[in-house]
Amino acid sequence: MKVGILGGGQLGRMLLQAAANYVVETFVLENDDNCPAAHLCHHFTKGDITDFETVYNFGKGLDAITIEIESVNVDALEKLELQGVKVFPKPAAIRTIKNKVVQKEFYQTHQIPTSEFVITESLQDLQKHIDFLPAVHKIGQGGYDGKGVTVIDTPQDIEKGFDTHAVLEKKVKIKKEIAIIVAMNDKGETAIYPPAEMIFDPVWNLLDYQLSPAILPEQILWKAEAIAVRVVKELKSPGLFAIELFVDINDEVLVNETAPRVHNSGHHTIEANYSSQYDMLWRIMLGFPLGNTDAILPSAIVNILGADGYSGNAKYEGLEEILSMDNVFVHLYGKTQTKPGRKMGHVTIIHKDYQDLTYKANKIKHLLKVIA
Ligand code: ADP
Repeated sequence: MKVGILGGGQLGRMLLQAAANYVVETFVLENDDNCPAAHLCHHFTKGDITDFETVYNFGKGLDAITIEIESVNVDALEKLELQGVKVFPKPAAIRTIKNKVVQKEFYQTHQIPTSEFVITESLQDLQKHIDFLPAVHKIGQGGYDGKGVTVIDTPQDIEKGFDTHAVLEKKVKIKKEIAIIVAMNDKGETAIYPPAEMIFDPVWNLLDYQLSPAILPEQILWKAEAIAVRVVKELKSPGLFAIELFVDINDEVLVNETAPRVHNSGHHTIEANYSSQYDMLWRIMLGFPLGNTDAILPSAIVNILGADGYSGNAKYEGLEEILSMDNVFVHLYGKTQTKPGRKMGHVTIIHKDYQDLTYKANKIKHLLKVIA
């Protein structure tokens, strides 16, 4: 089979690493010919994943196509789908998810628990919703990694809002942030990964470190799993999905957002679960049985981010020491240039003991530094 990936970042790179275990010819479309996935595929095409003609021409000779980012040209994917190219996930699902306003409306329509929201078109519009505060304002389309998301606690914060099509969500009193990856094949069969629990860096608003399986009371776990599976069933699309959820202070479970693709919250599945999220997506696309999602051992992920104050040719400090630690797996994404907060790689730690995981995660965070 010939399978294409739209986007050539680290998710595409790890997807290609898993592809090497199967009989598949891989194609990548991305604007930067030195991107993380460029040198691991059979065929690289330099081009814009948001451009109709580029995506259509890239996809028309392929058997299947997938994405590693939502900001792709969905019209082209729809045309390809009509012409018999299998698209994972279905273009309709990408369209629903791609715009945060449409995504919230989807949850509402299908009675999937999510924070209350109003839609705003401008800052002037936002002014009318002072009663709704504290809230979180999210740009409809084009936001990524915390950009395009701003907290509006007081009327004074309104000027930080977005002067465009956006959604204003009630601010959830969060106890825990978790993510559940759900895989669905062509037959509608599903497989659920154990949830991961995220801890965020307040400065960069990027994932700080993550533990999996999340430690949750059984009742909350069941609720979260049921909601995550419903999201995927209602999207009515085969593929691999990451559902980000909030557990609030009253133990209610709410969907924050869904990613219709392999996801940062599933990096640990490479070493910590029998079938990784990347392996799973290939199984789905190549028509093989779903894999085993069970955790082999608990795990932690530490993101390797570009250090503050350094931009330029990346240099990794502390790598030797980290590589001498037991059950620690380093993944560098092959990005030559670093800048503050840039995702340069991640480290996975596996251990039966959560205390050991947290200890090592913190140690790694302090030892490893990406400078220039
Ligand atoms: P992105 O798609 O850029 O990752 P998210 O929608 O996931 O943005 O929001 C980023 C972070 O902001 C979340 O992980 C969470 O910590 C916080 N957040 C988002 N929405 C809400 C909300 N309704 N209430 C409270 N915190 C929120």
